[in-house]
Amino acid sequence: MINKENFNKSCEIVGEEVKISNYLLKNKHIYDDNVQDNKLIRCPFDDHNDGTPSFSFDDRKGVFNCFGCGRGGDVVNLHYHMKKIEDDRYSRIKAVKDLAKMYKVTLPDMFERRFQRGRVNKFRKIDRDKDIGKEYYMEKIRTMETTIRKLPYKTKTKLYREIDNMLLEIKEPIEVFQTIKEVIANEGRNKLLHTSDEKETTENISSE
Ligand SMILES: [Zn+2]
Repeated sequence: MINKENFNKSCEIVGEEVKISNYLLKNKHIYDDNVQDNKLIRCPFDDHNDGTPSFSFDDRKGVFNCFGCGRGGDVVNLHYHMKKIEDDRYSRIKAVKDLAKMYKVTLPDMFERRFQRGRVNKFRKIDRDKDIGKEYYMEKIRTMETTIRKLPYKTKTKLYREIDNMLLEIKEPIEVFQTIKEVIANEGRNKLLHTSDEKETTENISSE
């Protein structure tokens, strides 16, 4: 389980430690550490061919914005757009951990231990059973990942967002699991309708 409080704290720490100018400098998107806040520079994302500079950042506020491609946010967003992990599950979580590693920043533990050691009492057992239920669905979701990856981009990103919400404990694993199952089933049904009309009729004839 993701510990939401520690995750938010981690984003804050990374934001403090990793200045946007420093990130751009390190990744060779700017060559001069005198680039001033709010001055327009060419957009660093390689899918945005930025003829006239349309990217700006503010180190003090820790934000960037490109009015050309519409991307914006904090240094965590900057990193995940840069590394193209925005459609991956974990996006922000992964980006925070990445940045912490790159900049040698120590973060609080974002993952909670599944079971607490020590005296087991009735209430703890109830909690643990609940955790096992959660784990069960999270594991199921993990096994669906290959299938999710093959889905159309829009569908896929929607599901990744659901998974993010689950990891941030905004949504229950069982709920997310059911959504994923439905979406996959729907996709499968659509595919069948489009590809196997012909096959189905020949099969029907031969079996009669
Ligand atoms: Zn841009």
